[in-house]
Amino acid sequence: MNKSKYITILFFIITISIFSPIKAHAIETFNNINEPAITNIILRSKSSFNVTLSRVSDVDGYYIYNIEDDGSLTLLKTVNDNYTSHVTLKGMTYGRSYRLTVKAYKLSENGEIITSNYDPNGITKKLNVSTRYKKGLKYYYDADGKIIKDVEHFLPKKRKYMIKVNTKKCVVTVYAKDGRKGYRIPVKSFICSPGKYTSSGTFTVGEKYRYRSLFYNSYSQWTAVIHGNILFHTTPYKSYGNNNSLDVAEYNKLGTPASHGCIRLQCEAVKWIYDNCKRGTKVVIYRSKNSGPFGKPKFAKLPKWHKWDPTDPTAIKKCQKHNCKHL
Ligand SMILES: [Zn+2]
Repeated sequence: MNKSKYITILFFIITISIFSPIKAHAIETFNNINEPAITNIILRSKSSFNVTLSRVSDVDGYYIYNIEDDGSLTLLKTVNDNYTSHVTLKGMTYGRSYRLTVKAYKLSENGEIITSNYDPNGITKKLNVSTRYKKGLKYYYDADGKIIKDVEHFLPKKRKYMIKVNTKKCVVTVYAKDGRKGYRIPVKSFICSPGKYTSSGTFTVGEKYRYRSLFYNSYSQWTAVIHGNILFHTTPYKSYGNNNSLDVAEYNKLGTPASHGCIRLQCEAVKWIYDNCKRGTKVVIYRSKNSGPFGKPKFAKLPKWHKWDPTDPTAIKKCQKHNCKHL
């Protein structure tokens, strides 16, 4: 072996042995903290984003930044817990592009704040909305041409809704009025459990109840009457007024027919109807193979011990305590 070959090989060995472990280490952790990421950005209104984080273990919170053109970071929001995965960034400028990134932080034993590494490329999203009619419905699109599946905050404050329940596909879609054109704006959709024999027809929202007894010693939160004994309600609880008594097996049937005729929904969904749909709001129950304008929403089943609805705003501390990761 000649000298130059020997030096080249030696150089390679040194390079591999010295730099590889450091490099591999640097990619995974910095200050012994794994690097979090922003996995999704959705337009929430003309001045806000909903950002989804991939959380990392053993940290105290996150800093969300905008990466400026010169590469410097502007802090947009501090998240003071390691429970939150969905963050709303408010006060953004309409029409502007943002390049977002995230660092995890941790308080060291001597009270110092140490941070993780971050993705210097970030995710770019433009705050821009356009609308287009398709098959008679008005859809909202972001700058990437993707349909926005919750347009509540793009609409004028005073608005009327109509609720459509597809009992075949187990999807509820809320529509808003589009001036004289009628209820042509799909606003949001929810997964539901109707009954196998829930009858179709046109009804209106009647009386509402914060807590209510159902049949077979079961109970609901945020209930609204559709007609007769047919109600919008949560999946059943085993005791009245107790948000920690969820019948988990019944909850896990959401997305399939499971009730005796009522329309069961997640807490977040039924509370939204309870809060936003006045008495007299039109409810259309129908059957169709077509899930609806936003498709069928995703749904994750719960483990047996999770005796509360993860979308229940009155039970959020329970998920925090267990550091749950839900959809
Ligand atoms: Zn949970």
